[in-house]
Amino acid sequence: MILMLICSKCGRKFEEKFILRCTCGGTLLVKRKYDSFAPRKFLDIRRYIDYLPVDEKFLPSLTPGITPISKISDEVYLKLDYLQPTGSFKDRGTYVTVAKIKEEGIDEVVIDSSGNAGLSLATYGMAEGIKVHVFLSYNAKPEKIARLNSVNARLHFVEGDRMRVHEEAVKFSERTGIPYASHWLNPYFLEGTKTIAFEIYEQIGIPRYIFVPVGSGTAFLGIWKGFKELLEMGEINKMPSLVAVQAEGYESLCKRSKSVNKLADGIAIPNPPRIEEMKVALRETSGFCISVGEEETLAGYHWLRRNGFFIEETSATALAGYWKAREKGLVKGSSLLLLTGSAKSF
Ligand SMILES: [Zn+2]
Repeated sequence: MILMLICSKCGRKFEEKFILRCTCGGTLLVKRKYDSFAPRKFLDIRRYIDYLPVDEKFLPSLTPGITPISKISDEVYLKLDYLQPTGSFKDRGTYVTVAKIKEEGIDEVVIDSSGNAGLSLATYGMAEGIKVHVFLSYNAKPEKIARLNSVNARLHFVEGDRMRVHEEAVKFSERTGIPYASHWLNPYFLEGTKTIAFEIYEQIGIPRYIFVPVGSGTAFLGIWKGFKELLEMGEINKMPSLVAVQAEGYESLCKRSKSVNKLADGIAIPNPPRIEEMKVALRETSGFCISVGEEETLAGYHWLRRNGFFIEETSATALAGYWKAREKGLVKGSSLLLLTGSAKSF
């Protein structure tokens, strides 16, 4: 098995260490070759341990689960990833990241987050004795701040939008030498989120479309990478079409809207660093991008909550995007919608 990281921009190869970018500035992906798809017998993420770039002895004690899929109509499935331990799909990426951090003997890290990624890393960090600095905006939701405090996150508040928060976290890391564990850049995070694809495949096969809320693209690119690996292993012979659902005013793949969707704070990321990889994913899967406004998001949110899916607003963009795409005649066939994050309060 070849173990390496590869730059998406210039193709340069690196050893599998905890590094975030190529010397050319390009983003990195883990590149391994697997012969066949043979999950282990676990009923949690360890089912796919042979496809993750981690040493088993460094696995965190808190283990992400296999999340259920709920069928809501003849052609629509919901993947309930908001049911992960800290309430979002981010636990998958955190799990692999923390294993890698432990392997390298790192005991203090910096992350920037609108809430879920920071909460996930801080929770795993607390369990594993890793100190976690979380940079976040003053506009972060109070319930998310309260939960971050409850898991001993070192909070650093930043004036300005999500991109400013990111810049400040990078500066802090450079100044202090504390490693930056950005989920936007870190290639190990996508190794965790790719297990979403493996699960979908084992649970329902290959849906025609998969709708994913897209800000930094950590769920979207993970799903793309997971299905691509299944394809390379010869396990499947076609990819599902990936649909990137974005929030109005923050689009990076769709045309930028003048109106702003303030409800979907989890995907309010106008300039994600992995944008080129996301364009490749759309192209390779014959997917498309769709952008939703506040009213559409709210309609999806209310429908989901009324039907028992206890999600946060950002997750509702998946349903809002699906409705909009169907109305425009863009979908013909089965669709799976990823519900990414749970509600943080009643
Ligand atoms: Zn490069």
